[in-house]
Amino acid sequence: MKDDVTIVTGASRGIGRAIAIRLAKNGGNLVLIGRDKNKLEETVKIVSEQGVNGVYYTGDVSNKSFIENTVKDVIDKFGKVDNLINNAGVAVFKKFVDTSIDDFMLQMNVNMYAVFNFIKAVVPYMIENNRGTIINISSLAGRNPFVYGTTYSATKHALMGFTKSLMLELREFNIRVAAVCPGSVQTDMIINTPVAPKEISKALQPEDVAETVALIINLSESALVSEIEIRPTKLK
Ligand code: NAP
Repeated sequence: MKDDVTIVTGASRGIGRAIAIRLAKNGGNLVLIGRDKNKLEETVKIVSEQGVNGVYYTGDVSNKSFIENTVKDVIDKFGKVDNLINNAGVAVFKKFVDTSIDDFMLQMNVNMYAVFNFIKAVVPYMIENNRGTIINISSLAGRNPFVYGTTYSATKHALMGFTKSLMLELREFNIRVAAVCPGSVQTDMIINTPVAPKEISKALQPEDVAETVALIINLSESALVSEIEIRPTKLK
């Protein structure tokens, strides 16, 4: 893993930044993606201090051309992609009657179509290398319903169906596909929203999710963890 090339989307903050920092312990090259240049530069600085080569690309993952150009540039620079962590996500927690089709499409574009487009762009190179790990950060909302969650939950359920089918299809190419399904994590996504737990400090921390991602990657390559649920132990 010392020379792995790993793409992490949504690495400017929250869970994605924690994943980047955790995976920096593996060494190699980290390609960090998001829209906030300053925050991405901060993440690059942190991982570089851990001795890895960190680069960043700023752009909107709902833009297909941005994804295609980014992956092309990564291949030109590094020649391969070993790991893809589709973490970038957006949530609009509203009652259905208050939810617009634009709210729904915003979430579908980031939580589902961007994942499709990233995987579409990297998979030919993974197949050529006969090696790869793709981890989609889904959610317990991809398994369970909840009030305020009609559209977010729909995007994560779609992501689960996609991820599980893709896992069955790509394993013959020695490519591992996994879904990580966290419960409440203390990040911007849920703080001050109607779905935030009463005691937010009892929620999972981004580092907890990052550790599960590292576990999936660092297991023997012949071992494929296809799904992990992780939830806070005691939440009020
Ligand atoms: P967060 O703190 O709000 O961070 C979201 C990340 O996604 C940011 O880095 C953001 O980067 C990036 N992002 C969002 N829209 C983007 C776009 N259009 N283009 C590029 N980057 C975009 O959220 P988080 O809690 O860390 O969420 C990370 C993942 O975990 C998401 O997939 C989320 O659904 C999932 N999840 C979260 C929780 C939770 O309770 N927090 C629970 C289960 C699953 P920029 O702002 O720089 O664009």
